[in-house]
Amino acid sequence: MTYAIQVRDLAKTFGGGVSLFSRSHHEVKAVKSVSLEVARGETLAIVGESGSGKSTLARMLVGLETPTSGSMLIAGKDARVLRQEGPRAFGKVIQYVFQDPIASLNPRKSTRDILEVPLKLLCGYEPSRRRERMKELLDAVQLPKDALSRFPHEFSGGQAQRIAIARALAAEAEIIVLDEPVSALDVSVQAQVLLLLRDLKTRFRLSYLFISHDLAVVEAISDRVAVMHFGEVVETAPPTRLFAEPGHAYTQRLVASAPRIRRK
Ligand code: ADP
Ligand code: MG
Repeated sequence: MTYAIQVRDLAKTFGGGVSLFSRSHHEVKAVKSVSLEVARGETLAIVGESGSGKSTLARMLVGLETPTSGSMLIAGKDARVLRQEGPRAFGKVIQYVFQDPIASLNPRKSTRDILEVPLKLLCGYEPSRRRERMKELLDAVQLPKDALSRFPHEFSGGQAQRIAIARALAAEAEIIVLDEPVSALDVSVQAQVLLLLRDLKTRFRLSYLFISHDLAVVEAISDRVAVMHFGEVVETAPPTRLFAEPGHAYTQRLVASAPRIRRK
């Protein structure tokens, strides 16, 4: 079995360091000893309430935070090795899409500028190949060609998220971390973006780590679900089993309070 992601005893503590004048007592153990794996081609969902450490885990996986301890293999490569290889090494194997699409896109950059960065710096494509790829990418996320000359504020939330998805696809990485990618969108738009993500996963043989606090979304997209609570994974199961027979007390509360899922 080959894995897209393998994480062992991963932890991240914020604060608590010794500063010049005082020792801070405000130490936050955002992630405590998390172990999990995502198989190639799998969608692993991470659920858990606000503050449970989901985004910190996501940010470590894509290289935006350095773990305090533990190990990560991304596409079979040790994250410490990736870090030594330089700032672009993570982006070639793992990409991300975050919650707020408008905020995650630079307001002064057109779609063309946004897509240009990974096509040039990560793929090393020449201008003519870049233009070709831009057309293919817009097609893949179902946006019209004239989107290229437009700016983030000219798009709806759903359209802007499609551009963030196109940017993630542009790098040709095999893994995408999605942190609450549809939470900021209207429910009708959520369904369209979820369908698109499912289609892209099959088409480009991607693996997803998909963070959401919404169990209905998780039910629609995931192969397996890991439940996070206070920085730890307390339970992992396929969604149908998790919703029918939640094991951990926290999962039971989560499932009981979810209005839109089928419990079989
Ligand atoms: P979630 O995404 O599940 O809501 P987060 O990973 O964002 O959770 O946060 C987990 C905990 O870590 C929270 O208590 C949060 O306040 C804290 N935290 C996250 N990022 C930082 C940071 N950069 N500095 C200090 N504390 C942080
Ligand atoms: Mg978060």
